[in-house]
Amino acid sequence: MSKFKKSLFNPETLQIEVVPYSVVDYVWWSLRNVGWIVLVGTGSVLLFDIAFDSPKDRAQAREIAFLEGQVLSFENDIHEIEGVLENIEVRDDAIYRTLFGTDPYPEYRRNPGIGGADRNRVLRGYEHTEDVANLSVRVSEVQRRLVAQSRSFDEVMELATTHEERLHSIPAIQPVRNDDLKRMASGWGNRFHPIYKVMKFHYGMDFSAPTGTEIFATGDGVVVKVRRSYTGYGRHIVIRHGFGYETLYAHMSKTLVSKGQKVKRGETIGLVGNTGTSVAPHLHYEVSKDGKKVNPAHYYFNDLSPEQYELLLQNAEVAHQSFD
Ligand SMILES: [Zn+2]
Repeated sequence: MSKFKKSLFNPETLQIEVVPYSVVDYVWWSLRNVGWIVLVGTGSVLLFDIAFDSPKDRAQAREIAFLEGQVLSFENDIHEIEGVLENIEVRDDAIYRTLFGTDPYPEYRRNPGIGGADRNRVLRGYEHTEDVANLSVRVSEVQRRLVAQSRSFDEVMELATTHEERLHSIPAIQPVRNDDLKRMASGWGNRFHPIYKVMKFHYGMDFSAPTGTEIFATGDGVVVKVRRSYTGYGRHIVIRHGFGYETLYAHMSKTLVSKGQKVKRGETIGLVGNTGTSVAPHLHYEVSKDGKKVNPAHYYFNDLSPEQYELLLQNAEVAHQSFD
């Protein structure tokens, strides 16, 4: 006998009869119950999911929070490293390079710029793209600046080891004895040419002195030219000092050194005269740095006080005509 029964209205007898479940009834009953279970079960899971994170979600959330913390911490580190690096760069330019009398390390070598391809292509399209890409750019920038800084220090090391030699080689005194600074006849700049009678740029300094006055090498070096000419510089000498420096001494009456001879600063190399294109006994003196003529006045730092130097510059400016 079946446990389940159902009531049915019999139209023929007009009675309500209780009959047992057929197989079809059992199937329907089962399907109905399974439906309810599925419905309630799914509903519960959905509600639970909305109300509570799964353990996996929580683990991921913890990991993301951890990574965000790491990015922030790296940002702080990088910020600190950038600060230290900047300080080193400033000290390099302001102290080490100035100490050795050289130019600051060129900016284009410190910051050549990235340019070209998007280096963070692989990082695009994620929620934290901006942060990570930013970090990546800053890290590679610091790397590049460190390499540049390292090269700069190589140069400073080189400057330091040759510093002594450089100090002796730079043409840093006046080429004739000029204690009262009265010998300065004409300086660097536009001057009225005594022979051509036109304004001409005067690429050197003239020291007026009697014929036979001693002329000194202004820095250590090697004599690379000894010439006697009836025009232009007349009897003249060129000394190569190294480190890009050369000096020229013109219109001499006599040369006292020969080509290839090594000379020391202060050594007598010849005597003042009036040879070549010259209107009176004087020394025409030129300084070149890296093949370009420069104002010799900028180099008399060894034998002049600041006040003397001022006076010398004034004297050089006053004269409107060179002796050439
Ligand atoms: Zn001159």
